[in-house]
Amino acid sequence: QAKTTGRNALCFFDPEMQAAVNANAAVSSELHIALKKQEFVLHYQPQVDRQGRVNGVEALLRWQHPRRGLVMPTDFIPMAEETGLILPLGRWALATACEQLAAWAAWPQAADLSIAVNVSVRQFRHPDFVDQVMAEIRRTGVKPQHLKLELTETLLADGMDVTLARMGTLKALGVTLALDDFGMGYSSLSLLKRLPLDQLKIDKSFVAEVLTDPADAAISRTIITLAHSLNLKVVAEGVETQAQQDFLIAEGCDQFQGFLFSAPLPIEALEAYLIAQSPPLKLQTA
Ligand code: C2E
Ligand code: MG
Ligand code: MG
Ligand code: MG
Repeated sequence: QAKTTGRNALCFFDPEMQAAVNANAAVSSELHIALKKQEFVLHYQPQVDRQGRVNGVEALLRWQHPRRGLVMPTDFIPMAEETGLILPLGRWALATACEQLAAWAAWPQAADLSIAVNVSVRQFRHPDFVDQVMAEIRRTGVKPQHLKLELTETLLADGMDVTLARMGTLKALGVTLALDDFGMGYSSLSLLKRLPLDQLKIDKSFVAEVLTDPADAAISRTIITLAHSLNLKVVAEGVETQAQQDFLIAEGCDQFQGFLFSAPLPIEALEAYLIAQSPPLKLQTA
């Protein structure tokens, strides 16, 4: 990237660029320290099926900043990607999610849940990525199909041979693969059919306007039809109202995620949510 290679030469001439470089360095070391001090946490957002049963959660990173409070991923992921800190951070998220899956294996309310982990392009492209996934599955003893990796369409922009090979290996391990934010990026239909995916996630920007914008309704409908004809499940993200879910159910969408069901929750709150959702034990048959 020109930005990185040209950095030293450019900043000599350009004080503005120098300021940006300094700010970058500051944030970068701040992120490093935060990871060391264990200031990152995962919050978990339930995903429900057409019957309203929770069948999985998505793990979403949060930074518990000592002064700034809870920092959202959009405020630090881009910097983490740029500085490379996304590699240890992403690995931490993967390890933590696998540990959580292992802890749930003995708990009836959660034993069948999957955890979806977001994987950045830089992390996926790292030569050790598949080995890391394998190592975490082995270390924690989780069922591979309970681990879902959410990839983005950016992966399809180039380097398709590596992407395909890596996805194939992950798929062979039994890991579930989802394409996140579908419809926002680069997917061509001919690429899509070659990917060993399990799920497409309809981007929340389409879901938001599904009842008010006929184009977004058509796009959502088309994504569902396309996914099903490729034998993929469809997850709608950002479902906020019952009317949105009703529309998506009528169109055949398989799974739903959004504030209508729950915001992303800290682990204790998520476990309380799961207990509240689980059907009461029937002690007598009617
Ligand atoms: P994403 O993977 O598309 O995650 C969905 C985002 O939508 C989350 O934002 C979630 O909190 C938000 N959301 C959920 N339900 C609703 C809803 O009903 N309405 C609206 N308006 N939003 C909803 P969040 O947690 O801020 O994460 C933003 C993005 O940061 C994620 O988008 C993902 O791309 C990235 N991210 C989060 N955690 C990780 C991680 O561990 N690794 C990597 N590489 N990226 C991550
Ligand atoms: Mg995601
Ligand atoms: Mg998404
Ligand atoms: Mg999204």
